[in-house]
Amino acid sequence: MIIDIHGHYTTSPRQHEAWRTQQIEAHAAGKAPPPRPAISDDEIRETITGGQLKLQRERGTDLTIFSPRAAGMGHHLGDASTSEAWAAACNELIHRVCALFPKNFIGVGMLPQSARVSPKNCLAEIDRCVNEYGFVGINLNPDPSGGHWQDPPLGDHYWYPVYEKMVEYDIPAMVHVSAACNPAFHTTGSHYLSGDTTGFNQLMTSSVLKDFPSIKFIIPHGGGAVPYHWGRYRGLAQDAKLGLLSEIMLKNVFFDTCVYHFPGQELLAKVIPVDNILFASEMIGAVRGVDPETGHHYDDTKRYIDQLPLSTGDKAKIFEGNARRVYGRLSAQIAKQAAA
Ligand SMILES: [Zn+2]
Repeated sequence: MIIDIHGHYTTSPRQHEAWRTQQIEAHAAGKAPPPRPAISDDEIRETITGGQLKLQRERGTDLTIFSPRAAGMGHHLGDASTSEAWAAACNELIHRVCALFPKNFIGVGMLPQSARVSPKNCLAEIDRCVNEYGFVGINLNPDPSGGHWQDPPLGDHYWYPVYEKMVEYDIPAMVHVSAACNPAFHTTGSHYLSGDTTGFNQLMTSSVLKDFPSIKFIIPHGGGAVPYHWGRYRGLAQDAKLGLLSEIMLKNVFFDTCVYHFPGQELLAKVIPVDNILFASEMIGAVRGVDPETGHHYDDTKRYIDQLPLSTGDKAKIFEGNARRVYGRLSAQIAKQAAA
């Protein structure tokens, strides 16, 4: 089985995104948002059949761990109440996709975060995602301000209520920012990759992994700059007397393969142990074009893994085994949805 652990519902029905615009406009005008629009099962099917499902089939993958559109989370917009309603709407839609295509999609939830609002606000939505929707993970935004970094770092006790829930439910968090509202950043070019890198560094210099020995984080987009600069982080950890980087981080921190060229995948596989690499493409996402050097889509990342000089067993870990281990609820949910 080939499990893509990083996909977002970037093709969601138009009225869903239109309602978000209306919601934020109503909030700015001090009014109540309009009622949520009706979305039929057929409309959802159409967006998936011609999109993510088609690419799964073309590229030979089986299952996508699927979450709401990341740039669309927009935690810097509105306030805690708009975030709560928007996260609920987005997660419900993911649940409907998973119910319509139970063998192809398993859900991960976005959180109703807002800048400078306690993450305790997210706990009820995490409960709903796990208990009602069967979701197997969450996306945790380390910078709900959208590029201004106004919240405490991930090592701060501020975030511990979310970590307690993650451990309680055995669900990992993907450290994933949303759109940047700071013009210094390009959302998917620099904000995402610096969010990944910053998240890793914040965890490294904190006691989170000691305080929660079984917690699991995924650093997406190939780990941002981290694998490329592994020597720097090893040296920083050593100078700060934190211990050996691999020993302090790699029981809890994992990297996905959303790196859009073969040399990048080679480096990832050379630097990071195979047990810490999870297959992912983030399709249909940030980079949708065809690479003229290969003639294939940049985000067709399975091709790069196929080319790596690894054993069949190691590739099976990257494609399936590691995902089942890191997402503690995944195997049971696969079985449950397959029987649906
Ligand atoms: Zn993503």
